[in-house]
Parts: sequence; structure tokens; C-alpha cells
Amino acid sequence: MYWGPEDVGRETMPFEAIAPTVGFFTSGEFLRTGEFVNQHNVTLVVAAMREGDIDEDREVYHMLSEEEKSGKINMIKRLTTFINAATAEMEEANRKLEIAAISDAMTKLFNRGEIQRRISACVRDNADNDEKMSLIMMDLDDFKKVNDTYGHKEGDNVLIGLANVLRDTLKQCEVEGDIGRWGGEEFMILLPQIAVDKASEIAENLLKNFSDKEFPLAGHQTMSLGVTEYINGEKSDSLTMRVDAALYDAKAGGKNRVVVR
Ligand code: GH3
Ligand code: MG
Ligand code: MG
Repeated sequence: MYWGPEDVGRETMPFEAIAPTVGFFTSGEFLRTGEFVNQHNVTLVVAAMREGDIDEDREVYHMLSEEEKSGKINMIKRLTTFINAATAEMEEANRKLEIAAISDAMTKLFNRGEIQRRISACVRDNADNDEKMSLIMMDLDDFKKVNDTYGHKEGDNVLIGLANVLRDTLKQCEVEGDIGRWGGEEFMILLPQIAVDKASEIAENLLKNFSDKEFPLAGHQTMSLGVTEYINGEKSDSLTMRVDAALYDAKAGGKNRVVVR
């Protein structure tokens, strides 16, 4: 279709000269540079058939007229469609990669690196103003027992169930927060612009909503939570260490509870 009539004729003429019925198939690679369309690696398969004598008057047959060609083929349009499709696909793949890089695959929460980055960024922002911010850290109680008794698969179910409770409870409390998986069965919630009173109220809701949940094999499970508020001027490490200490106190105090520091 990209060949001019002379090109088609030049290729098929010898066969047409010896047979009235000629068909051909061609495939190849075309390169457009500016105004020019160049052919590369073009192959042509011609089948020619004749019965009886050669017809001397027969005209050379062209597949498409110039008009038909310009109407049917718009190289730029076709290339644009192709490039647009390829670009959209690439953007989608990049978007997926970006999400995967900051997510925990199982719970779909932020991964450790991302929640840590967000905490640090929030601490940096708060250094310039007097905004409040709080952290809630939680750890499942006696989770090893769940794995040992009901298997690792049920253990995973509990982790996924907890992730859902965390998301749903923030929504129910109408607060915006970043939720991350801090470690195996440890989770961290960053609550920008939230003071410790509100944060501990949210933590109590998390505690209740999670223990209310029933798992197919593991039944009801509990967790312990630590809560703390950002102290102006401190580094993010000191903030996360304090919330970890609050969580430790909740465990030491008998688990299934919230401790505020
Ligand atoms: P504690 O109440 O003191 O927190 O006790 P625990 O049993 O919850 O804590 P421990 O640190 O002894 O055990 C944590 C368990 O969490 C051990 C580990 O196998 C399990 N775990 C960590 N990540 C995963 C996971 O992705 N899937 C499952 N099924 N288990 C996990
Ligand atoms: Mg733990
Ligand atoms: Mg635990």
C-alpha cells in the first residue's frame, strides 16, 4: 500500500507479461524521515497463473490509485495512534511501579520506608509552624500463637483484616492519616494536625473495632497500641522511639490496651 504504482508495476510486470492472473503478497518495514517514506527489508511473494496464450493488450493493474492511497493511509495518524497507545501503557506501568515501590503487597498499606518518609516530612513541616501531629503504633497480641495454631495463611488473614480495620476506623473517625506496615505484625499511623487527645480516642476505637472482628479460624484477636504527640523541635527518631516505648508499656501492662506517652 505504501508503494507507488511504478514500484508495484516494476515488481509484478515480469510476471504479468507471462501470465494474465497475478497476485502478490508483500510485507516489509517502512521508515518515515521527514517527508520521505523509506522501504526496508521488503519481501514480495508473487503467484502468477496463465491458461492459454499471452494477452499482449492487457494493462498493468495497480492495487490503489494515488487518491485511494492518500484517503486510506495516513501514516502520521497511524503512528500517532500507536504511540499514544504505547505511551498510555507505559504510564500505567510506571504508575503501578510507583505504587508498588511505596506499598506493602499483602496489606496494601504504605511500606516501612514510605511511612517513615512521611513521618520525617511531617516533622520537617512542623518545625516551621505550631501544628500538632500524633503517631499511633500497634502490635498484634500473641500473634505467634495464631500462626502456630491456625497456620500462616490464617495469620495473613488477620493481618489483612487488621489493615482493613485501620482504614475503616480512620474513615469512621473522619480523620486523614497515613497508615503503614512498620514490621511483620506492627503498624504505624501518622496523624497530621491531630493532637494527642484525639489520637488516643482514635486508638481506643481501633482497639475496639479490631477486637470486635471475627476471623474464620482465629476468632477474636487483640492488639496493643502506643500513642504520642510530636514535641516541637524534636527529631522524627525521638518521636518514633517514644511511640514505641508507649507500645512497650501497653504490652508490659497486660496487652489489649492503649497507652499514651
Ligand atoms: P506479643 O503479644 O508480645 O507481641 O507476642 P507475638 O507472638 O505477637 O510476638 P512475636 O514477636 O513473638 O511474634 C510475631 C509473629 O509474627 C512471628 C511471625 O512469624 C509473625 N509474622 C510476622 N510477619 C508475618 C506475616 O507476614 N504473616 C504471618 N502469617 N505471620 C507473620
Ligand atoms: Mg512484634
Ligand atoms: Mg505481637
